[in-house]
Amino acid sequence: MSWEANVRKVVPYVPGEQPKIKNIIKLNTNENPYSPSPLVYKAYQETDLDDYRKYPDPTCSELVDSIAEFYGVKKENVFVGVGSDDVLSMAFLTFFNSDKPILFPDITYSFYDVWADLYRIPYRQIPLKDDFTIDPLDYYSENGGIVIANPNAPTGVKMPLSEIEDVIRNNKDVVVIVDEAYVDFGAESALPLIDKYDNLLVVRTYSKSRSLAGLRIGYAFGCEKLIGYLLDAKFSFNSYTMNMPALKLGAAAMKDREYFEKTVAKVVATRENFKASLKELGFEFADSATNFVFARHPGKPGKEIFEYLRANGIIVRRFDKPRISEYLRISIGTDEEMDKLVSVLKEFL
Ligand code: PMP
Repeated sequence: MSWEANVRKVVPYVPGEQPKIKNIIKLNTNENPYSPSPLVYKAYQETDLDDYRKYPDPTCSELVDSIAEFYGVKKENVFVGVGSDDVLSMAFLTFFNSDKPILFPDITYSFYDVWADLYRIPYRQIPLKDDFTIDPLDYYSENGGIVIANPNAPTGVKMPLSEIEDVIRNNKDVVVIVDEAYVDFGAESALPLIDKYDNLLVVRTYSKSRSLAGLRIGYAFGCEKLIGYLLDAKFSFNSYTMNMPALKLGAAAMKDREYFEKTVAKVVATRENFKASLKELGFEFADSATNFVFARHPGKPGKEIFEYLRANGIIVRRFDKPRISEYLRISIGTDEEMDKLVSVLKEFL
């Protein structure tokens, strides 16, 4: 018997490429094309490197307080982590501890099944309807927990809050995680429901609407008891998850509501123009409420379009998976980047 027999073997999630080449148009990981808030620059310039001798605040109070203030909740309702990936992973570990399968859609964020496998959580993937929407009735069966991304990724499709509430209300014996990574770009948040349902965890990120993917900050809202259990798991895993720059600069970003609203509005306006151009070119796509569009062309294989774009310095994302292999997930960049993409697509089609 070799030691390998006892290794916890996993098939890892594959993140989107972060190419080293300059002068490419990078539309593959749903980053924000605009810089972080000027308040983040200011906080960065005021950083004293000597502080880094010490450990960061394990309670993350500066960051947690800024989030609680922005959203008008108590600090006891807020949990923070190293990107929402860390928050979600901790939530899976903490709340999905049953023999019954957890439920999530067949087409959704492809980290969910990876965490489930890693933590040995049984799961069932429920097919989205043909139009990529979710039927709340599919989430009525007995289960060990539920995770739904709203809007969903990579489809970009949103679910009405009334239907999200329906799922939460009909699953009071398990925790329902609503992953709102893209909610700021066009869906209604479940945040107001945390006072009404103690089984709801709402997860958010700084990576998209706050232009800070590089700092790795995610956060979650839930009732005090739920957040308490998450904190117990976190402090049993790693006390110092958040580094000093993330705590400081993340708090600064939360203080700039105006900049946040302005950049989100710009991305949304560009997305709407881009949808119109894609339609003219004959692409098909479900309506997107996010900072990306998930589209296919009836006349050209997705793989060929992907490769042509790449050869022309434009990187988008394609998933070689059942039901979606013809689709490209195209992040919304600046107007100039999207114009260039449209002109390259015109050449190809
Ligand atoms: N949830 C969804 C649905 C996502 O698409 C992403 C981005 N890959 C994440 C969570 C994780 O984002 P981050 O860890 O950068 O917060």
